[in-house]
Amino acid sequence: MKSVRQLISLAVAGLLLAGGSCVGQQIDPSIARQIAAIRAVDNHAHPVLAPPLEKTDKEFDALPASSLEPQSDPVALRPDFPLLGAAWKALYGFDTPPPLDADGIARLNAARARVKAQQGEHYPAWVLDQARIGTMLANRVAMGAGVEPPRFLWVPYADALLFPLDNSGMASVSPDRKQFFALEDLVRSRYLKEVGASIPPPTLREYLEHVVRPTLERQKAGGAVAEKFEVAYLRSFDFSDPPRAEVETIYARWVGHGEPDAAEYKLLQDFLFRYTAMECGRLGMAIHLHGMAGAGSYFSIAGVNPLLLESLFNDPRLRKTNFVLLHGGWPYVREIGALLQKPNVYLDISSQDFIIPPHTEAQWLREWLEFEPEKVLFGTDGYPYSDELGWPESTWIANRNARQGLGIALTGMLRDGEINRKRAGELARMVLRGNAEALYKF
Ligand SMILES: [Zn+2]
Repeated sequence: MKSVRQLISLAVAGLLLAGGSCVGQQIDPSIARQIAAIRAVDNHAHPVLAPPLEKTDKEFDALPASSLEPQSDPVALRPDFPLLGAAWKALYGFDTPPPLDADGIARLNAARARVKAQQGEHYPAWVLDQARIGTMLANRVAMGAGVEPPRFLWVPYADALLFPLDNSGMASVSPDRKQFFALEDLVRSRYLKEVGASIPPPTLREYLEHVVRPTLERQKAGGAVAEKFEVAYLRSFDFSDPPRAEVETIYARWVGHGEPDAAEYKLLQDFLFRYTAMECGRLGMAIHLHGMAGAGSYFSIAGVNPLLLESLFNDPRLRKTNFVLLHGGWPYVREIGALLQKPNVYLDISSQDFIIPPHTEAQWLREWLEFEPEKVLFGTDGYPYSDELGWPESTWIANRNARQGLGIALTGMLRDGEINRKRAGELARMVLRGNAEALYKF
């Protein structure tokens, strides 16, 4: 039996999903109700710690670059994005349309503060409740107050393990990479300190055995269900498979000895990525890869083409490692869809469902569901973007869009006779939580 309160919240969720708009007319009402009732597993987001720690929390991202050179911001990241107003109203009862002036931001913060005072340490879990998210995978350097199991499960960062040499050459490629490698060097120092070292050891064998493996094992023991790579912000996906002996020589030649030769350093990174992925398979942790045109005006969109990863997916030594390509691969939505036929490849729709409106996303979401429905995961990429757009707002908007996009895709399949209503409900549950439960063995 559902309580009256649960029934009301389901009805509200159903209305929100339908939206009373042309989107609503595109979604079959029974499918909308089924989607609205599902408590989701969010495969990827960056929740911020509970108040008062939220003000100083910087561990929601290993690369929290807030001062990149300007890019042409997508519509969803602009201060006048209309859905911001819907999110503020739903979350805080704040009913002023965007954009906000300084006074408007102050009033919004006062409305937020009232909810935070009521919720205290429960505030991050309260945010999940507003989006009917049961469990969120928290991509953070470390967990903390209010962002803890069972509602939040940890996904730490592994990029720093790939770059044990002098990174000044890597950093000189662009102004963005200059910032990113400075931040990555900090994470590397932290990982070294945690294994009792201050600098990388002199041989590759020692580096693997005394730094890489213990770091992954410690994170696994700390509750990590996956390791995240933001490597697409740092270099391209074209990982080769060099022989270990060659890489041992390269490591010993350059570690602690100044800026390495770029081609040799690439081989070392390639080897370390494959080694780390193998270790994650051994430890039962999935690999999460940022997999979409990323933030910043210098991001290499060519370098994030998921087809560049095919040799990894086809490596028999990596068949025990599950790879989850985050953010639906945009603009490579067809390429990423084809890769789902690899037994160890999954995708999630995080970020994409925030940046791209539901009707547009539903087109390729439908293709993926027609092809490999067990491999598609829901996610939001909730993230503290700006004063107006905090992690609660981006989580709320992405969740709304994802459920609408899923509703449009499933309704299209129903109307074209590809599935019946029962199967539509099953597919909705798989995307919103079942596929994640199977992948992570919850
Ligand atoms: Zn993210």
